[in-house]
Amino acid sequence: MARKKPPSRDGAAAVDLGAPGGTHPVAASVIDDAHEAGRVAAIFGRLRSANPKPETELNYSDPFTLLVAVVLSAQATDVSVNKATGPLFAAADTPAAILQLGEERLRDFVKTIGLYNSKAKNVMALCALLVERHGGTVPRDRALLEALPGVGRKTANVVLNTVWGEPVVAVDTHVFRVSNRLAIAPGATPLAVELGLEKAIPAEFMRDAHHWMILHGRYVCVARKPLCGACPVSDLCPWPDKSA
Ligand code: SF4
Repeated sequence: MARKKPPSRDGAAAVDLGAPGGTHPVAASVIDDAHEAGRVAAIFGRLRSANPKPETELNYSDPFTLLVAVVLSAQATDVSVNKATGPLFAAADTPAAILQLGEERLRDFVKTIGLYNSKAKNVMALCALLVERHGGTVPRDRALLEALPGVGRKTANVVLNTVWGEPVVAVDTHVFRVSNRLAIAPGATPLAVELGLEKAIPAEFMRDAHHWMILHGRYVCVARKPLCGACPVSDLCPWPDKSA
């Protein structure tokens, strides 16, 4: 896929968006389009070689359980969500079954997860809407997904991409940081990064790009002290603060 000129580094270029609160100049190298497309392809090629079949770390068995797990994962770790959803999904893994469970019992299952009160309310309301409007199934449509309680653009993108392979990228804190540090799609907001990534990432990598970037950000290109010495794309990274 043709790569558009790297987002005009006006504004975004002057600020290092890869470090929270950072204000370092971004690498000044202005790379021509072909070179840049090759660099982005090389980044994803290496991430793919290291992990050919990346998976979400959330446990799920179908679109509905993925949707619920992602809603529960806001501002919580995947590990904590998995601990709660194991017993929950064993007891109820459909919208109708969760409605039958009732909010109080649902709250008991998820009470170890941050913000569990509002999340339990959202999951109950979400289940009711899925039953009322979609016959208990998860719609393959961004607007319909975003109309569900607790479901924003990022959650909708995770479901669309993970379940159906739609060419969309969910931008969480890890994807945002990695995209800016590697200058794949520099941007000041998650939406700007998302739209930039969807243009920059070659089609062959779109299906798994989200997972590669999350895992890279979670385990290597971490926020405070990135492990640049162990980074498989270090030589392709223009971030001025990367370590040797
Ligand atoms: S070299 Fe460092 S800053 Fe650049 S992508 Fe790798 S871990 Fe992140």
